[in-house]
Amino acid sequence: MKVIDHINGAKDTLISFEILPPLKGKGINAIYNHLDPLMEFKPSFINVTYHRSETMFKKQADGSFAKIEVRKRPGTVGICAAIMQHYNVDPVPHLICGGFTREETENALIDLAFLGIDNVLVLRGDAAKNETYFEPEPGGNRYAIDLLKQVMDLNNGIYLEEEVKDPGGRAQFCIGVAGYPEKHFESPNKATDLAYLKAKVDAGAEYIVTQMFFDNQKYFEFVDHCRAAGINVPIIPGLKPITNKKQMMILPRTFHVDLPDDLSNEIMKCKTDAEVELVGTEWLLQQSRELKKGGAPVLHYYTLGKPKVIWNVVKELV
Ligand code: FAD
Repeated sequence: MKVIDHINGAKDTLISFEILPPLKGKGINAIYNHLDPLMEFKPSFINVTYHRSETMFKKQADGSFAKIEVRKRPGTVGICAAIMQHYNVDPVPHLICGGFTREETENALIDLAFLGIDNVLVLRGDAAKNETYFEPEPGGNRYAIDLLKQVMDLNNGIYLEEEVKDPGGRAQFCIGVAGYPEKHFESPNKATDLAYLKAKVDAGAEYIVTQMFFDNQKYFEFVDHCRAAGINVPIIPGLKPITNKKQMMILPRTFHVDLPDDLSNEIMKCKTDAEVELVGTEWLLQQSRELKKGGAPVLHYYTLGKPKVIWNVVKELV
């Protein structure tokens, strides 16, 4: 079922989760162990992130170093199929431009369609670790909107090399995109960022999932700004718990988000990470309650290795 149909058919705020594929070599049980406890909350859908390969240097027998491309977290498509089969829950694979040619993307979409997966979240991806700025793969998509247009084309039976006239069994993906309450870090200002977001919606995105934020006011203002700009699709807040002190530096630097003073002051008082986790859990619970009350269509939790914290929060909401 499509994410947009889940939202349109809902009487109350829905719950969804996001997971990362495990590091290469780990089995599917790593995913089931992570998700099993969370399934009692009947998530409407589960997102699975996509990761580009990274350039690494491997020492050769003669002492020289060979450049190799390594994908540390492969398996997004397979994990989505496993989630659907094992839990009967709709998976949402992420698709990224970075590191993929348009042909590779088309092949991934064809696989997803054969598997009966109805949803994709389309993203640009970040610059590779050895690049200052994002560079698309030769023959790849540059912006999320280019990838989105490729998916829309496929929905319309237009493949890279030709239009397929017989529409029987054609893929019909529901497409989500990312939005940034605190602005995407490369955008010169919020208005420009919003204009590009509107372009993605006008091109066919049916809903938006936000970057994490820790101050709900930023989400509510973002929704207001989107509505004023004529963006009328559901806007799903992305939520992440803080569980250790290091995140006070890592999150703003990596995701370009602010931590409110009240939250950072409380974290500073903590002597151990266990105490930080308690503060982070309580903060996330208050955020969730307020967002639910404020009419958020879905609460989307980035579970990233912390399913217990998410469980503690969601159990207080349902
Ligand atoms: P875009 O929408 O392409 O925007 C990128 C930048 O370009 C913005 O500054 C935008 O304003 C600007 N821009 C957009 N269109 C144009 C245009 N036509 N001309 C000029 N400028 C333009 N990364 C992963 O690698 N894997 C994941 O699974 C993943 N999942 C994510 C899930 C969510 C909910 C979010 C919020 C982010 C996720 N990311 C993921 C990170 C994401 O890939 C990065 O934030 C990336 O830097 C931007 O992606 P985007 O899709 O928003 O890009």
